[in-house]
Amino acid sequence: MISLDSKLPAVGTTIFTVMSKLAAEVGAINLSQGFPDFECDPALIDAVATHMRAGSNQYAPMPGVLRLREAIAAKYAHDHRRRYDPETEVTITSGGTEAIFDAIAATVRHGDEVIVLEPCYDSYVPSIVLSGGTPVFVRLTYPDYAIDWDAVRAAITPRTRVLMLNTPHNPAGAVLGRDDIGELTAIVERHNLLIVSDEVYEHIIFDGLQHESMARHEPLAGRSFVVGSFGKTYHTTGWKVGYAVAPAALTTEFRKVHQFVTFSTSTPFQHAIADFLERRRGLAELSPFFQAKRDLFLSLMAGSRFAPLPCRGSYFQLMDYAAITDEADAAFAIRLTRAHGVASIPTSSFLHDGVAPTVLRFCFAKKDDTLRAAAERLRTIEAS
Ligand code: PMP
Repeated sequence: MISLDSKLPAVGTTIFTVMSKLAAEVGAINLSQGFPDFECDPALIDAVATHMRAGSNQYAPMPGVLRLREAIAAKYAHDHRRRYDPETEVTITSGGTEAIFDAIAATVRHGDEVIVLEPCYDSYVPSIVLSGGTPVFVRLTYPDYAIDWDAVRAAITPRTRVLMLNTPHNPAGAVLGRDDIGELTAIVERHNLLIVSDEVYEHIIFDGLQHESMARHEPLAGRSFVVGSFGKTYHTTGWKVGYAVAPAALTTEFRKVHQFVTFSTSTPFQHAIADFLERRRGLAELSPFFQAKRDLFLSLMAGSRFAPLPCRGSYFQLMDYAAITDEADAAFAIRLTRAHGVASIPTSSFLHDGVAPTVLRFCFAKKDDTLRAAAERLRTIEAS
């Protein structure tokens, strides 16, 4: 038998796969994995078919279909007053995940350190490790999941090369504020750091808050890869179309990786998304749409033993279950799925040491009826 010394010994099957499989096995309502249980705009599907019939079925250009890159550049000019050159500064990728990998692989060398704010999306650390880098973990504060800038400063060494950011944040629903931008700018300029900014939930932000994209702030935009995902924006997570915008010098290196990871991303999907994005279809509606879902879920859960934490963006709601049990979060998430028929995600799965507070993540990108049925089950749970 051949055996292999794993390059990623700490990595198993992701919790998202585990919980979705368990939910399917026991017939639980699945509020675990972050994907909508409703369809995207049918006109978007028609657009894909139209482009397929019109012959857009061969390789797209390596950096992406030009009209989609132009539409993304126009979006950034409109939303953040930052001009990215579609030819040299915008690249289409196979989802945000590929863009994150490419940005890290293009910049992190053996022995480099990367600041990772935890909890964090689970692709960051394997991407860093495969590139020979070392993740240096800094915990977000609890319960507001803010960035402790003193802790970030304390974690920086001469080997620090990249700072990973995520706003709006998965799993916490926290968003970066104006004060953070000042702290961040001072740190990255002083230590000459690059930023990989995961902004896949850029259009899902609530209560009138402004999305503080790195693209809005010149000193940050000049040293950032900003990552987006049309899976989140157009309810099409299965299409896996994402992108990165970055200054030309960074994009040149990014594309060297992208070129040999996937070469290019599915052509008809890029054209269909360009049709929508050129007219800004679906963008303005997205935050109010998900804010209504957040508020519905919260109102349905009022009076339950779950205590909601603030959610200012993304489509995830954290709930503290200390009034039910002091069980560890992964064990409670499994019991909740099996015994009460609602699947969620334990926040320990977003932490390298797995030591989490009594908090679960619920995805509210679901039909109102799904949220009602789930809340009905969750409301009946007593202390144990
Ligand atoms: N970053 C975060 C924070 C996410 O939640 C996700 C999707 N779950 C991604 C990146 C990846 O996006 P995509 O599906 O476009 O690869």
